[in-house]
Amino acid sequence: MRRALAGIAAAPGMALGRARLERPARFTLDTTPLPDDQVESEIARLDRAFQIAREELAELRRKLHGALAREAGEFLDAHTLLLNDRELIEGLHGMIRKGHYRAGAALKAQRDRLVAVFDNMDDPYLRSRGEDIDHVIARVQAALARQTPQEEKKLATRVGEILVTDSVAPGELAHLAGHGIRGVVSVSGSPYSHSAILARSMRLPMLVAVDGVLDDLRDGDLVMVDAERGEVVLHPAAQDLARYRNWQRDALREGRRLAQLAGARTVTRDGHELRLYANAEMPADIERARGLGAAGIGLYRTEFLFLSRDRLPTEEEQFVAYRDVVVGMDGLPVTIRTLELGADKADGTGLVMSEEPNPALGVRGIRLSLRQPELLRTQLRAILRAGCYGPVRILVPMVTDVTEMVEVRGMVEACARDLRTEGHEIPDQFEIGAMVEVPAAALGVRAILAVAEFLAIGSNDLTQYVLAVDRNNDELGRMYQPAHPAVLRMIARVIAYARRARKPVCLCGEIAGDPVFAPLLVALGLEEFSMLPDRILAQRDALSRCDRKALRALAPRLLRATSRDDIAALLKVAERE
Ligand code: PEP
Ligand code: MG
Repeated sequence: MRRALAGIAAAPGMALGRARLERPARFTLDTTPLPDDQVESEIARLDRAFQIAREELAELRRKLHGALAREAGEFLDAHTLLLNDRELIEGLHGMIRKGHYRAGAALKAQRDRLVAVFDNMDDPYLRSRGEDIDHVIARVQAALARQTPQEEKKLATRVGEILVTDSVAPGELAHLAGHGIRGVVSVSGSPYSHSAILARSMRLPMLVAVDGVLDDLRDGDLVMVDAERGEVVLHPAAQDLARYRNWQRDALREGRRLAQLAGARTVTRDGHELRLYANAEMPADIERARGLGAAGIGLYRTEFLFLSRDRLPTEEEQFVAYRDVVVGMDGLPVTIRTLELGADKADGTGLVMSEEPNPALGVRGIRLSLRQPELLRTQLRAILRAGCYGPVRILVPMVTDVTEMVEVRGMVEACARDLRTEGHEIPDQFEIGAMVEVPAAALGVRAILAVAEFLAIGSNDLTQYVLAVDRNNDELGRMYQPAHPAVLRMIARVIAYARRARKPVCLCGEIAGDPVFAPLLVALGLEEFSMLPDRILAQRDALSRCDRKALRALAPRLLRATSRDDIAALLKVAERE
């Protein structure tokens, strides 16, 4: 019998598939007091369960790749942080030791207390953070119940299923999406949850707050997620299927329309050509970039080479990886960024200082590389050698001061000399560019331009440093605003100085590929954008609708704007004109 249940759309779109039910784990909690002689073994059992949960998260992280790994990584970090929270763990130990709670009962009591704190918050975003606690504690409870890391949840799903669940953690969602899940329906959750953010970025339709959905369904029943209307239809009828087909047809048409833009030039409405480059870190990104007609690789992140193994990659291993990228791009320029590791990025290489008090302001990017000259030298040699297979540029991350650029250039020249002496063929000259992502570099951009051949604006970090908002801190998610007038002014300044110096400047943070930012960045004078390959077509489409002349004329007013609302209003005016 057809039934429609209302929910809140957390990620748009529609999906049809068989239900795959994940009921909340029901634990039979033993609430009888723990005998004295079992206290220590119970604490050990709890600690083991925490350890298993940490290992599961680490395993999940290893399974995720590319852009997804970056997005889900932040959420996994938040969960890992909770699993390492001394206060939480010591509180639980205290309950077992002094209150004679059993581990499961202690976890439940702590969960209820913490979730109640979040539930009472006025801000819906903060309120939804209670979900993180729920997911983490559920994971520990599950580990406690089985105490073995082997028994994976039944994650290997079949294609074409709709996940129907009480609530889903972001890591699991990312993993399931890779296994063919088409849509998600959850009983709890909110559009502000990490899972919702992830579902949107994976284009996975998602409905949350769907009461009773688990009671009325059986595994394998046909369900339709309609996030356009905000309902889930159990046992859809003919008229639902017709609606789904219509939606599918429109979505396909839009997909096809965008697909026609593959390989096209990116030209604004008033005939100005812009260049779209790709950000890449995996071989698959290179293929996509070529296929979609990227002008080159604007940012090749080399971290993946270092994070995917537990020892440092050799010069030869790095050379082969870089050469393959250069050959793959077939004569188009490839910008290789030197290692950007820091304490905020997981690391099996032992390079990163593990206990920095303030990792975002710590030894990361070029700071780390300059402290480990051998490491940088090995990387530079590999990059220089790859340079004889096509145009390669070297990009230096986290530049704060010109002296860092001067040091790198000195090392590049020394490496080039050594390589030639050893009989390697390498190009005569190399372009070295600076990432502008630290406010000091943006303010001192004239000096940086004197020692760099090109610039790349790292708006992800620039935003966090200009606003003093940790980009990995979920609590501050809504304060992390790349469209803040202060950030825009910094970006405008860097672009203006680079143009004046007649040196190329590209923006390679996430906003480069966000259609919402397209008119804003055109207004600030940006002509080179570097983004995830998947974003290229939609951004090409958005940019081709921009009237560059009208937007450029708006720039002085945009830069005087004092709020994001003013900026939005000005852009609306430009759109109408
Ligand atoms: C940035 O900071 O905008 C950037 C592109 O670098 P990453 O995201 O790798 O720090
Ligand atoms: Mg950065």
